[in-house]
Amino acid sequence: MYGELHGKVAVITGAATGLGLAISLRYILEGMNVVGDYVGTLPDELADAEKKHPDRVKFVEADVSDEKQVEGLAQTAIDTFGTIDVWVNNAGIEKACHTAEMPFEDWKNVLAVNLDGVFLGSREALKHFTANKKKGTIINMSSVHQQIPWPTFAHYAASKGATEMFTKTIALEYADQGIRANCIAPGAINTPINAKKFSDPKQLAQTESMVPMGTIGKPQDIANAAAFLASDEASYITGTTLFVDGGMTLYPSFQYGAG
Ligand code: NAD
Repeated sequence: MYGELHGKVAVITGAATGLGLAISLRYILEGMNVVGDYVGTLPDELADAEKKHPDRVKFVEADVSDEKQVEGLAQTAIDTFGTIDVWVNNAGIEKACHTAEMPFEDWKNVLAVNLDGVFLGSREALKHFTANKKKGTIINMSSVHQQIPWPTFAHYAASKGATEMFTKTIALEYADQGIRANCIAPGAINTPINAKKFSDPKQLAQTESMVPMGTIGKPQDIANAAAFLASDEASYITGTTLFVDGGMTLYPSFQYGAG
């Protein structure tokens, strides 16, 4: 737990499920004020959290690829809690397809959520931080696929590679104002995005064989990283990526001396 996070205001996109949900619950536990963005239906767990902490939690429906809706999300945070300290661009989608057959619409949809969403959210955070001389922080959810190529997910991998360079660029651009921006790169984590894959024992074993530590990760592993990067303990960390992947990016095929 990080005492200094108590009372800080966080906006988290894609907060209704998986990693966004785990980060939201962790931030609530830290005593933060949380504005959770979602699309579709708000799950009972979050509606309950909002009822339990009406003064500290607000969920807002907003499509991260829509400029006006993201501006509205930021305005709601400011109107409700007076400021923004931490902005987590977590919302993301993926859809397998061989590149030769990939409909342009699919390419555009994945880039719109995964990259436009990161830009639009970061821009709102930066506008607020600079206008208020605030040393805020931005956390962008990339992926091990900012580094590892992923056939049939070319749009996804491109969006995550671009998220890394976008994050490094804004980190450099605003470092002299004390604003920090970092990525978290999860490996294989058990969330709805890959629930189907991991419910099949064969596919689960195949993924586990690609993780040197031998198991897939939990959403809490990512929430831990998001709490750390938001905290003062990370106050000298900017423009970097924290890989939370059980060693997936360490060339697992070399693990036992092959090569
Ligand atoms: P998830 O599917 O549970 O979460 C994605 C969330 O984004 C959902 O709540 C969804 O409703 C929301 N979302 C989708 N489109 C949106 C839009 N237009 N506007 C607002 N919200 C939208 O999966 P997750 O694993 O929790 O994924 C969260 C992030 O982590 C994603 O960016 C994903 O690429 C990244 N990631 C996940 C893993 C993993 O193994 N789970 C690995 C690497 C990276």
